[in-house]
Amino acid sequence: MRQFGEAERDVGQAMGRGLRCRCPRCGRGKLFRAYLKVADRCPACGEALYHHQADDAPPYFTMLIVAHVVVGGVLSMEIAYHPPIWLHMVIWLPLTVILSLALLPRIKGAIVGLQWANRMHGFGGDGEPQSPASVLKT
Ligand SMILES: [Zn+2]
Repeated sequence: MRQFGEAERDVGQAMGRGLRCRCPRCGRGKLFRAYLKVADRCPACGEALYHHQADDAPPYFTMLIVAHVVVGGVLSMEIAYHPPIWLHMVIWLPLTVILSLALLPRIKGAIVGLQWANRMHGFGGDGEPQSPASVLKT
């Protein structure tokens, strides 16, 4: 939660930097130290990134997007061309895997950027992460 006197954080910019797998604060340092492991601190600016709690949101949004693309593609292709089932498998199974693996870290980066910009889960710099109950009290 933003305290009086603290600078506004640009949500769109932070999410965009997260989409590029970069630190939401500076946009230079790598956000991840492994495929989906968020670095404890930004290697460029030192911003603490361990506060994130992306949890199930990245896989949820990844499945939402990939399912719409793949199911829409399968149905459109089937209606238009009636291809054999093996052709569907050759096209859509690899595309599903590739899209999922490509989108997952980017979406996680965007979620971390969103949390950072909104000062959620300790990103506000006031120490301990806030629980939903303590946010409701203020
Ligand atoms: Zn940084």
